[in-house]
Amino acid sequence: MKKMLAVLIAAIFVLPVLAGIACAESALTDGTYSAEQQGFGGPVKVEAVIEGGKITDVTVTGNNETEGIGAAALEPLAEQVKEAQGAAIDGVSGATLTSGAVKAAMTEIMAQASGKGAAELKIADGTYEAQAWSFSMNYQMNVKTVIEGGKIASIEVGDNGDTAIILNTAIENLIPAMIENQSVKVDSITGATVSSGAIKAATEDCLVQAIAAAGGDVAAVSAFYTVPAKSTATETINTKVLVIGMGGAGIMTGNRIVDTLYDAYEGDTTKIDVLMIDKAAKYGGTSVTTSSPMSINPKSFVEKNDGKEYVDAAALKAAWMEYTEGDAKEWAIDMMMESSGDAVDYLIENGFVFGAPVQGLSDPYLICCNYGDGFMVDKSIVQAYFDKFMGNYTMKGGKYMLQTEATSLITDETGRVTGVNAVGADGTTYVINAQYVVSATGGFAGNGEMEDKYFSDEYYNLSGGGRWNMYGMSQNDGKMIQSAIDNGAATYCIGMPPVSHIGGAYKVMHEFPIIQQEYPDFFTGKPATISLNDIPMMLAVAPNSMAVNRQGVRFKDETTLTAYGNWAAGAYFYTIWSDEQMQSIRDNGLKFSNIGIFINQGGWPANTPIPELYDVLEKGMEMDIIFKADTIEELAEKIGVDAATLAKTVADYNSYCDTKENPPQGIEKNPVIYDLSGRPMEGEYNVYEKIEGNGPYYAVKGAPWIYSTTGALDVDEQFRVLKTDGQPLEGLYAVGTDCLGIMFTEKKEYVTYGGADQGWAFTSGYLAGKQLAETILAE
Ligand SMILES: Cc1cc2nc3c(=O)[nH]c(=O)nc-3n(C[C@H](O)[C@H](O)[C@H](O)COP(=O)(O)OP(=O)(O)OC[C@H]3O[C@@H](n4cnc5c(N)ncnc54)[C@H](O)[C@@H]3O)c2cc1C
Repeated sequence: MKKMLAVLIAAIFVLPVLAGIACAESALTDGTYSAEQQGFGGPVKVEAVIEGGKITDVTVTGNNETEGIGAAALEPLAEQVKEAQGAAIDGVSGATLTSGAVKAAMTEIMAQASGKGAAELKIADGTYEAQAWSFSMNYQMNVKTVIEGGKIASIEVGDNGDTAIILNTAIENLIPAMIENQSVKVDSITGATVSSGAIKAATEDCLVQAIAAAGGDVAAVSAFYTVPAKSTATETINTKVLVIGMGGAGIMTGNRIVDTLYDAYEGDTTKIDVLMIDKAAKYGGTSVTTSSPMSINPKSFVEKNDGKEYVDAAALKAAWMEYTEGDAKEWAIDMMMESSGDAVDYLIENGFVFGAPVQGLSDPYLICCNYGDGFMVDKSIVQAYFDKFMGNYTMKGGKYMLQTEATSLITDETGRVTGVNAVGADGTTYVINAQYVVSATGGFAGNGEMEDKYFSDEYYNLSGGGRWNMYGMSQNDGKMIQSAIDNGAATYCIGMPPVSHIGGAYKVMHEFPIIQQEYPDFFTGKPATISLNDIPMMLAVAPNSMAVNRQGVRFKDETTLTAYGNWAAGAYFYTIWSDEQMQSIRDNGLKFSNIGIFINQGGWPANTPIPELYDVLEKGMEMDIIFKADTIEELAEKIGVDAATLAKTVADYNSYCDTKENPPQGIEKNPVIYDLSGRPMEGEYNVYEKIEGNGPYYAVKGAPWIYSTTGALDVDEQFRVLKTDGQPLEGLYAVGTDCLGIMFTEKKEYVTYGGADQGWAFTSGYLAGKQLAETILAE
């Protein structure tokens, strides 16, 4: 009710005031004006040309905005500004921060052009509430802001669907900075950028309400746009070992080094000189969001199992080597077979709780140990394990710095890596000199440029689609991997597909209500939901669709798109539909209830008519995730593929549906649909559905949502990064995702052995840390 009230108050007060802005904006001096504001990934610049008192041209640029979301919003936002003739724009759904930056920059431009300067701030004390979309797909974040004496006195985050441990870093670090600087434009907290963005957006909304309540000009909200000055200090730090990245691989490495040295130095912590840094405001990285690392026959569990092993490691190794067609490094697979159990036992000794090995994704082997002995335990429990682990590390003399980002490697005249340049969140720059540098930065999925540059088209069409959608840590942007390559490092399988088992719509829709159900959600435990917002997602991964890649040809058996194989088209793909199919969905419902895990608002039950279907399609068209045309050829043009190619794919596919022979691109469709664990769906169903009729036709843009990249740096058995000549790049080591490719092949996807990536993070850190400590002791 309160929320409704807040919305109503905002509507009553804001609308006339916005209208007021439009009037005030008419007396403008001709010229070209520009202003810059912080968007999601970096500065967003607006340039406006004013001729004859009217805005005639607007350009919005923001090179660091997320591909497909903020970046895709830049042009529509420029259009909106032109149409609104000012800052009073609606913004683009899903791109809140980019929209906010454009509004703020435009407010500044209007002040410049009208010669009025910033509007006078009139603001009413009180408590205001607003909501913003954050990390959760189905629960908005509620924010309460208290204004006292015209200032932000407090900001409180209420109900939300965010991951608590990530949100907390924003609450602890962002909110104090916002209050101290009286600003909604302070830097987002690395590792919690989405939560930070939502807090800032909702607080700004509260401020607008407060200004409107005082009868002020809402443009005066720019009084809260102060960007705090950055420190210009430089510091030098010297350390024996520097570990960059404090996810599972980094923390494991750091602990093993200090543990080994502590024992060797008989508890003399003054001799221990190990520093870990992380750019995020908390340690744990992606590794805290994980459920189950691969762990082959951990001794503690085998003992409890009457000495019986859980898996035949030799058979698993043989299958793995066969799957990777001999490309995986055999010694790395041996390490997983022999030491992944020890790594998990070591974590247990350090306070972690794991369950006995269970089956991984789509695989018969008992190789995955769940954190806390339950699938998807509360992440705050997992974070508490990492806290304990860090307690061991600091107690034994290890040091660490958060919010400190390594930006490039430092090398000496011989080419040896001797440290890194780094920067703190407050702008302080650091020169960190180290004898040994370990890269544990979790891959490069946060960096679209690197993805375009390194993903290979040799086996699949992976490159050139811009930054891939991600369900992981976007701060893992590969700076250290790139810097290592720039210094002569070799890569291993860097061109291979990223880690993906989530398929969904290219953009998430938020237009329609989210309807709560009476049963709990499997993953969150909160009431389950359903929503029409998920229809584009369900159309994108429907088993009865025909899917094509960015060249207009089929790339995978469509029955697997929900979870597997959706990466094979690159950063996005399309499913193609006829209007007959759409009419049938409207009247009878979707035939399947497949949804991509995590990236959904509960889906929509199968076989349930959807009278609003065409409204959903319209909204999807506005969001550029659904395309409609009268003919297949015109549709091809709309989605940028060759018309004849798409027409042929459709014709061949239709004929295949009739005859079950000669599938286009030779890709057979399995008549059976399997769930994530490999269980076949029961009942009678038909996945062969033709795309027929007289049009119109539709294309639905789908995408894989990746956890991380897979391939990266090449290493030897001591985890020394290798150069392209096969020799070690002295001083540099890599663990976890930064060298995950050595266990795989560019010819296949990562996914077959569930838990391998987190398993490798722990196992490589476990072994690398011990070896590095021994190297130090042998000096
Ligand atoms: C939702 C989700 C569920 C998953 N579930 C599973 C699962 O069940 N089983 C499984 O095996 N795997 C799973 N994974 C994958 C697994 O989490 C990763 O493989 C693993 O966490 C990688 O560990 P890492 O230490 O290499 O990287 P991370 O844990 O990502 O750590 C990298 C750290 O480096 C920091 N960093 C990056 N760049 C810099 C820099 N320049 N300077 C300083 N710090 C930097 C980051 O802030 C981060 O803290 C899942 C991933 C996700 C997203």
